[in-house]
Amino acid sequence: MKRWRDKAEFKTRVLEWAAKLDVRARSLAVRPMRRKWASCSTAGNLNFSSELLDLDRELGDYVIVHELLHFSVPNHGKLWKSLMRAHLGDYERLDARLRQAAL
Ligand SMILES: [Zn+2]
Repeated sequence: MKRWRDKAEFKTRVLEWAAKLDVRARSLAVRPMRRKWASCSTAGNLNFSSELLDLDRELGDYVIVHELLHFSVPNHGKLWKSLMRAHLGDYERLDARLRQAAL
């Protein structure tokens, strides 16, 4: 398992994915959140749970891409799934691992 070095590294990663997925971030925060890994508003306010910093980087990538794709695809339908697969490969495996990680 490979963890994030620090919050700054995680934020850099979010901004890299945002640029790649054409999402305009207005604000970006990594902070404690209750029972949630992330919340993002269409206005471009991105919030990620600081608990992600204690998990494998792969899982952080999963949450980041999952949330950012919702800017263009608001559901978990066919298009969203194919984009997830295109960017992350076997994302269902990551989803299952994240569900096992305690919130
Ligand atoms: Zn979702």
